[in-house]
Amino acid sequence: MEVRIFGGIGEIGGNKVLVSSPERLSIMLDFGKSFSREEAFFQYPFMSPMFPEDYFKTGLLPPSEGPEWKMEGFDIAGLFISHAHLDHWGYLPLIHREIPIYLGEASKAILEAYRSMGFRDLSALDDFKISTFRTGDTLDLEGLKVIPIHVDHSVPGAYGFLVECCSRKVAYTGDLRMHGPRSDMTRDFLDRLAEEEVDLLLMEATKVAPENDPEASLVKVLENRIWYRWRREPPKRVNFEVSSEREVGERMREVLSGSSRLILVEVSPTDVDRVRTVCEVARRMGRELVLDERVGFMAEALSSVGIQDLPQPGDYLLWRRKRRKGSAEVKLGSREPRSLVEYVGRVEDRRGADSVIWGHLRRELLKDEGSYFVVTSNATRFLYEIPLGVKPRIDFVMSRSEPFSEESALSLDRLMNWLLIYDVHRYYRIHVSGHLSPMQIGDVLKLVNPVKVAPIHTEHPDLFDLYVPQGMKDRVLLPEVGGPIDV
Ligand SMILES: [Zn+2]
Repeated sequence: MEVRIFGGIGEIGGNKVLVSSPERLSIMLDFGKSFSREEAFFQYPFMSPMFPEDYFKTGLLPPSEGPEWKMEGFDIAGLFISHAHLDHWGYLPLIHREIPIYLGEASKAILEAYRSMGFRDLSALDDFKISTFRTGDTLDLEGLKVIPIHVDHSVPGAYGFLVECCSRKVAYTGDLRMHGPRSDMTRDFLDRLAEEEVDLLLMEATKVAPENDPEASLVKVLENRIWYRWRREPPKRVNFEVSSEREVGERMREVLSGSSRLILVEVSPTDVDRVRTVCEVARRMGRELVLDERVGFMAEALSSVGIQDLPQPGDYLLWRRKRRKGSAEVKLGSREPRSLVEYVGRVEDRRGADSVIWGHLRRELLKDEGSYFVVTSNATRFLYEIPLGVKPRIDFVMSRSEPFSEESALSLDRLMNWLLIYDVHRYYRIHVSGHLSPMQIGDVLKLVNPVKVAPIHTEHPDLFDLYVPQGMKDRVLLPEVGGPIDV
């Protein structure tokens, strides 16, 4: 077998791993968006990639045979998506429609929910050949066997893959963690690999970084920019990295207890563990829960595929994204996706028209700042939607597990500027990571005992060997982008 890695080397995410048989029959594992590399060439929305060739000429995707991406010289029998984070599936809309796509049930539900919320890239989702798999299935693509096995990550329905061909085995972790609420699933995956004698392990190493925190250096740079730009002290980020989801809730209650301010928490809508945790914190604090439409809509969509204990319409007030017609704000825009309009209707049916917060209701809600607990997918946007002349006092918690938000890697810069407008001089980062801690890398390697291992999904592959046990260091490969690795 041959493995070629086209994204995820020296960067967090953007994973694209091509595994080929000697006859060049191939599969692709993940087809992720490269946030950092896109930012290097494009600026949203003014100069965003418009045609597929924009991805090819910048090297964001390897050369294609035509506008729909299809690898030159390789016959790709399937694309396998490990989980529904953009840095793993984001370029899916660019792939050739003839290439079958395989993903888990929850991932499919998340992609459909994004499409229903109006994500333009996904408007053609129905034109793709999509099938779902379950853990332990064996998908045999003309001799290339792919076995997806569940893992725990900060999104439901995450998988690692074992690929077998011509008596060789390649394993790919996707993104995973050992300390989450479902560590048993990660354990299942690793135990299976331990039985299999893996020839090459492609291992996520997100947190291999000088400070074990890939976000820390970015935050420093951005804080410096605030000094230079405004001559003001940037908001202080107080970091609490805890080791379990339960501790996230405990720490959040501690930090916020006795607050008389508006509580604002940013989460990733697909991180269902975190959504449950923050809703429970709101309840125990006796605060009225307010969700933005992405958090509320996603919770409803994931409930419909059997994910339990998520907030339902009726349980919360809905903070509506600002829409405008002429010079006035409206509740429903004219080109709004129908499913979103229907969702807003369901919230109103359960709880009355005043439960959808827009227009003058924003002002009313913010007058009573100490009564509410706002859960948003985008705190920057929430702050921008505060009406003129209203200045709530705010306690802000950044509780996203992923280092980068879905909208932009540099949104943190704007967030800090908006926090300064509302005089938020300190805010809290409370989260439990979705990723393996560097100290666990050794444990995983001892258990799986692969012939070779290559770090992926890290900005610092050169530091990986520091965490590899003595006696195994010569097994580390540091692949080049696109270069073949013989297995
Ligand atoms: Zn990732």
